[in-house]
Formats: sequence, structure tokens, C-alpha cells
Amino acid sequence: MNKVRVRFAPSPTGRLHIGTARTALLNWLFARKERGFFIVRIEDTDRSRSTIEYEESILEDLAWMGLNWDEGPDIGGDYGPYRQSERFELYQMRADELLRSGQAYRCYCTPEELEERRKKRLAIGLMPKYEGTCRNLTADQEAECLAQGRKPAVRFRVPDEKIIVQDLVRGEIEFSSDVIGDFIIMRSDGSPSFHLAVVVDDGEMGITHVIRGEDHITNTAKHVPLFQALGYPIPKFAHNAMILGPDGGKLSKRHGATSVGEYREKGYLPEAIDNYLALLSWAPEDTREVFSPEELAAAFEVERISKSPAIFDVNKLNWLNGQHIRSAGLERLTNLCIPYLKDAGLIPQAEPSQEEFAHLVKIVEAVRGNLTVLSEIPEYARIFLSKYEIQPEAVEWLKKTQAPEVLSALLEQIRNHGELDFEGGRELVNGLRDMFKPLKITGKDLFMPVRVGLTGAVKGPELPFVLNILDKDEAIRRVEAAISKSKTMSAHS
Ligand code: GLU
Repeated sequence: MNKVRVRFAPSPTGRLHIGTARTALLNWLFARKERGFFIVRIEDTDRSRSTIEYEESILEDLAWMGLNWDEGPDIGGDYGPYRQSERFELYQMRADELLRSGQAYRCYCTPEELEERRKKRLAIGLMPKYEGTCRNLTADQEAECLAQGRKPAVRFRVPDEKIIVQDLVRGEIEFSSDVIGDFIIMRSDGSPSFHLAVVVDDGEMGITHVIRGEDHITNTAKHVPLFQALGYPIPKFAHNAMILGPDGGKLSKRHGATSVGEYREKGYLPEAIDNYLALLSWAPEDTREVFSPEELAAAFEVERISKSPAIFDVNKLNWLNGQHIRSAGLERLTNLCIPYLKDAGLIPQAEPSQEEFAHLVKIVEAVRGNLTVLSEIPEYARIFLSKYEIQPEAVEWLKKTQAPEVLSALLEQIRNHGELDFEGGRELVNGLRDMFKPLKITGKDLFMPVRVGLTGAVKGPELPFVLNILDKDEAIRRVEAAISKSKTMSAHS
């Protein structure tokens, strides 16, 4: 059997949309599962809306998602070029062949005439469709049109037979050629239509499976006879359902972020995006929900792609992101957090030294369990990276009668220890617990003054983590400051 060859064919007219990214992901999963080829082809026939900047940003987002491609505009391959704008000669050649064999014909209708007929059809309740005006022009009639200065487009002569689309997700879909009408394959300005370019490219590039959104189903009905006319094998098709916003409308800006780049900027991990988009599209056989991209590829089955639209649920995405944050490599996670810490002014703009980096790793390790998205890191890291400050709600704990005693004991314990790691921190905390038990100072009464003494806050990671993060001198300075604060308060009360 031929190796699977699938393609992702974005038009570079905007940033990578989350729905388009999903189509890319499904193609990639299928290619990887089948050990085939994943190809990126840039569909930039619309020269007025396509830009190289968008192409670059789409490729960057794809790479970020980990969807590596085997052939594409940047890396080439045996079937290039991979930009449609560089393949115009080929489209022209194929269109000419169809003209010669009579499977296509020149159409001289002007846009105004077409529009007028379209309106007429609509007015009497008919679907808009090209009525075949130029289907059988004689050479003389054509010469006359040319003499009138009309510029011909080229239309595909849709054969008068049922069109059957074999869809791996939806089964057999039948269309009557009646509803389709002869469609344009070359515009009068000499540029190929989307239909011709896609079919020629899929044919020439040996594409075996076309996985794309269900908004392309009616296009597929046009493409199947065109593949046949051009003598290409017909690929297998799989049309995935749309992604909808929570209100049931097509996912758009008003539902929040829609581009992959925006999610990256907010601090979502690519594996969480992949995981979420995959779950949105297909139901794995077991009930597992958290998958790495490799696990997704191993479990993927194209036949299980869902037929019904999926509602985008940001809470689920957030949950998955949290799960992946908890299992990501710590150093990688720290590197990803650094830009957010810099932006918040919590670390200097320059690269951290090795020692500073090691300190940040400890902080990230301690707080990652709280994070939904990486951009939240400053909120949790602040107590370790900014000047010690006792927050208003924390002050209450320093007013408690036991506070001075607890803080003095804490100070002494820290002084008696060397630098503390997590285990050392745990021993210290246990030591305090044993010490205060006979005095009936336990639980929050004991640990809140300790926490406030060390962090100035009432919330934060477990105390052994806190002791692991703070170096000894800093811990001492903080607890001393808390002691004097608690003294001034008891003096006032
Ligand atoms: N360029 C098309 C789009 O962005 C994709 C066409 C296809 O997948 O066949 O919608």
C-alpha cells in the first residue's frame, strides 16, 4: 500500500485560527499514526489578501504546536514548490488539457450578466447555479465574444452523473451534479480558482487523504469529478465538524481568543492545546483525558472523528493546561515563565545567571500546582521575588498573642540550620510542631504566623517549599521584620 500523504493547506490571510489549527492537528495525528507524510502547502492564490508575514506566523505557530512537517515551503520536498503562487504554470497546463479534451470550456459571461441571472434564479426560488450559457459555443460565437472584448474564464464541464463522496467520518455522501453547475477553474485574469489549484496539487502531490473542515463538503462534491477528469486517483476524504462558541455560533472573536498565537501569549502549553483540540474532535476509546502529543498520535483513529460540532469550552482547556503544567519538565517550564516574570518587573531584563535560574526553578516547582496559565506566575512568585511586605490580611496573624513566641522559635530554628532544602524545611516545620504541641498551639495558630513571617502572605506553597526557596539570610531578615512588626502591634493594642 502507498504511504499515507496528508496535507495542511492554510491560506496565509491571517494568524492561525484555532479551528484551522485543529484541522492541521488531525492531519498530523493521522500522518504520525500511519507513519506517513505530513505536508504543508500554502494556498496563496488570493494575492491581494495573502502575505509572507502571515505565512511565517502560521508556520511558527504550527512548529510551536509541535506539528512538524515532512515537506513544506520552508524545507522543500520532492513535490514542490509548496506555494500555490509558484505553481501557476502547472494549473494553466492542466486547464488547457481539459479544454483540449472538451472537459472544460471557455465562458465569456461577464460578472454583471452572471449576477443578473443569479438574482433572477433567486427571485423564482431557484438555487444560484451557472446555467451553462457558454457550454456549447461554436467557434464563430467564440470569435464574436472575443471581438466584443470579452475575456474568457474557463469552466469545468461537470459530468451529468451522480457524485459520490466517500467520507471516512460520515460514510457515503451523494450529490446530484444538477445542483453543482459548471464551475470556474481559471478566472478571466488567468489565475486558477481554488478548486483547480487544490485538485491539481492534491493530485500532483500524491495526497492520499484529505482531512478538512465540513465547510468544504460542497467543495469536495466539485473536486471529485475534477480529480477524475484530470486522471488523478481520488483521495479519501474526512470532514471534521466545526468548533462553536458557547452560544452555539461559529467560534469567533466575540468568544475570546481565536488564534493559536493568542493562546501561546497567554501562557498555554502547546501540548495542552493539542490535547484539547484533539479531544474536541474525536473521542478516544478509553476515558483518559490527558495525553501527550505522541500518545494522541498512537491513540488516534480517523473514523472516530466526531460528526457533530463541538462547543469550545475554555474551562476544560484551562484544566488540561493545568494538568500539563504539572507534568512539564521543570527547567523548560521555568524558561517559559521567565518572560512573564520579566514583564511584571519581578526579575531583571537580562538573562538570569545560573544561580538565579536555579532559584527560579525552585519557585516554579513550588507554585506550578496553582497555575492555570503561565501568565499567572507573577501573582504566585511575587512573594519570593519582591521586597518582603506584610499584606493587610496577613497582619491579623501577627496580632495574635502566640505570634511573637512562634516567630522567635522560627528565627532560632533557621539560625541553627544551614541552607535548607525541601527535606530540611520539612524537618524544621515538624520540629516547630513538636515544640508547640505541649503549649496547645497547633494547626493554623502555629503555621499562619510562620507563613506570614516567611512570605508576608496568607496563601502560598507548602512551608517546606517556602523554606527551600528562601536563602537563609533572606529568611532571617524576613522573620526579624515580622517580629518587630508584631511587637509594634502588641505595643499598640
Ligand atoms: N486553503 C483552504 C482553507 O484555508 C483549505 C483547502 C483544503 O483544505 O482543501 O480553507
